[in-house]
This record gives sequence, structure tokens and C-alpha cells, in this order.
Amino acid sequence: MRRTVSIFGSTGSIGRNTVDLLLRQGGADVYDVKVLTGARNIKLLAEQAILLDAEIAVTAASSLLDALVKALDGTGIIATAGGDALRDAAKIKVDWAMSAIVGSAGLAPTIEMAKHAGILALANKESLVCAGELIKATCAKSGCTLLPVDSEHCAIYQALAGGENRDISRIILTASGGPFRNWTSDQMADATLEQAMAHPNWDMGQRISIDSATMFNKALEVIEAHQLFDVSADQIEVIVHPQSIIHSMIEYNDYSVIAQMAAPDMRGAIGFALNWPERPPLPVKQLDFATISQLDFATPDETRFPALRLARRVLEIGGLAGAVFNAAKESALDRFISADIGFLDMAQLVETVLESLHVKAGRSSSLEGLETVMAIDKEAREMGQQWMPE
Ligand code: NDP
Repeated sequence: MRRTVSIFGSTGSIGRNTVDLLLRQGGADVYDVKVLTGARNIKLLAEQAILLDAEIAVTAASSLLDALVKALDGTGIIATAGGDALRDAAKIKVDWAMSAIVGSAGLAPTIEMAKHAGILALANKESLVCAGELIKATCAKSGCTLLPVDSEHCAIYQALAGGENRDISRIILTASGGPFRNWTSDQMADATLEQAMAHPNWDMGQRISIDSATMFNKALEVIEAHQLFDVSADQIEVIVHPQSIIHSMIEYNDYSVIAQMAAPDMRGAIGFALNWPERPPLPVKQLDFATISQLDFATPDETRFPALRLARRVLEIGGLAGAVFNAAKESALDRFISADIGFLDMAQLVETVLESLHVKAGRSSSLEGLETVMAIDKEAREMGQQWMPE
């Protein structure tokens, strides 16, 4: 019997790599593709749906439904659109689901995937940051296996084969340092969108690339690690490792460190989640240690990159601080992309919103439900939109 799969965010960077792996591993002969989703890239969504003979293609953009219907005319593939359609599509039972929508827009479908999928491959880290307790409780209730797709957390998951959670001394998350690793604050203040998007090692979507330049991506990953591996803030360390060869490490209580290494290619982590628990060959480069010859490490500079300090503050506040942090960060990112605020303003905006809402956030929990999470997300986003640089 073919394995049933769905990909939410199939037209994005993670989604395209997932489709690539499915096609290389037999495509529609091996996989019974139930759902593919995108937003604005209708042409690609239709092409993917036809290539993989998907049952349903969903665009998040209701205004583009007619274009999707037209692109799929005569194929028998069902076209739907909008937020409710996305959520309904996530209720379709599958053996394996990829959550790769960008931002907190991915939260509602991810919760449904956690209820209805056998394995949830989670790239949408924002879901865990905003509502980690709710996602974990939902998986525990439904029996869904949660596999992290973020390369760092996939590395930690693999390093856990060498020990138990209770014996972890530290989780060491590696960070490339992004394009501004060696820039001064003055240079960063004038950074353009193009410069912020030019990641030195990874080929990713626009938003995560800019989040890597501010290190907000690493901040989200610190919160994600706390949620996934049940470790406290002081057990999570970030180390700058410009080569992106070591994807992360666990130090156990006996001070033995287990690192996972691979070439920087997301098909490694996606393929791990797709084939788990088996490990067939993947289309990624083998490491040649003689050529690499050197691995560098440095402590991150939290003056130039305050995002990491803010992540620790989120864990200190607890409750829904992650949802506030993420929404403020998404609003800051929107404003930087539209050239409304500067690069360094983003962290100031996030800190102001987080401190304004910290009491309220600390009093609530995502276990109260999606509506509670989305209400504070909305409030933080609106505050972020109104924030003015000093
Ligand atoms: P992209 O921006 O490349 O793709 C995002 C996907 O989400 C696209 O399919 C896009 O559709 C869709 N989308 C955009 N807005 C909405 C919306 N409002 N509602 C529903 N769907 C929407 O992102 P990435 O692939 O880079 O990242 C996806 C997730 O994976 C993020 O959470 C990111 O943090 C995480 N991640 C990404 C990594 C990477 O290497 N790229 C590495 C680790 C984690 P369309 O393109 O058709 O408009």
C-alpha cells in the first residue's frame, strides 16, 4: 500500500525540497499524496499537484482560487482556498505530514495535523514557539510522532540516540552567524533587505534568511529546543559556527559531547524525517574532512544580536510570551521588508512589545486553546505595527 502524505507550504523552500525528495523516492508510485498547499505561487502549486497526482491543492489566498481551478482544469485534482480550507485539509488522515507554512499562519493547520497525522514533520518552528504546550499535548493525545525538521533540532534528536533526556547537561545549538557576523553595529544599522537576505551557507525562504541575519531565527530555535527536549534556559547554549557543518550537539552529564554533522542542505533533515526510522541514501553532499580541515567556534555577541537575550527573557516570562515574541518579530520583519524601519530597529520593536505584554502573557497558557494564542498574537502584532523608532 502507498504511504499517505500531505505537505503544507509545498511551494516554499522546505516544501520544494520535500517535493523533490518524494519525486526522487518514487513519487506517486510510492506516495499517495493527499494535500499540497501554497499561497501566492499558483503555477508551482498546480505543477507539483499534477507531478505528484495529489488529491487536493489548497491556496491560502482566497482571491487566487479561480487561477488555481483554471490551472488544474481537467486533472481531477480538487482546488480549494482560504484559511478554513487549509484547516479542513489538515484534518485529512495521513501517515506523514510536513508542516512548512511560514509564520504563525501555520499554527492552526499544524494543530490539526498533530491530531490527524501519524508522523508530523515540523519545520514551522513558530508553532512550537507560540503554542508548544498545546502542540505537545495534542500529539500525546492523538499518538502522533513529532519529528523536528529544523536542522539543529533534527541534530539534537539524532544525538539523543546516545543517551536519555534526563542525562542532558547542555544542548549546544550552532549558529552560522548569518551575513552580518563580522559587521559593526553602524554597518548593521544601514543594512539593506538584499544584504540581510544573503545567507552565507543556507538557501532558505526570505523571512527565515532575514531572521538568521538578526539571529531571531536562533532565538526562536532556543525556545523550540526548550519545548521539544524539556530543557531549561540555562541548559541551552548558542555557539557561532560559521561553517554550518556541525548542526548541533548534546553534552551529557558525563561531559561526553555528541555532535551531528552533515553538509548544509535541508534535504538532510527533511529526508531524515521522511524516512525515519530508516536511513536510505539522500541527494546531499558527503563530507570530505580533509577539504573542510577547520571548524571554528565563537561566542555570539548579544550587543549586536540582542535576539538571544530576548529568547531567554521569553523563557523567564513563560506562558504565552513566545506567541508575543513571535508576533512582534513577524511585525518587525514586515516593516523591515517594506523599508518602514531599519535593521536594528527590529530588536527594539520586539523588546518593547514583549515588555509591554509580559504580565498578560505570563498569566496565560496555550493549553487554553488556539483562540487565546491568536488573540495575544493579534495584540502584539498591532502594537508592533504602531511602534515608532526613537
Ligand atoms: P518560504 O517563505 O520559502 O515558504 C513558505 C510557504 O508558506 C510557501 O508555501 C508559501 O506559499 C506559504 N505561505 C506563505 N504565507 C502563507 C499564509 N499566510 N498562509 C498559508 N501559507 C502561506 O518559507 P521556508 O520554506 O523557508 O520556511 C517554512 C518554515 O520552515 C518556516 O517556519 C521556517 O522557519 C522553517 N524552516 C525553514 C528552513 C529553510 O531552510 N527554509 C530551515 C528550517 C526551518 P507561496 O510561496 O505560494 O506564497
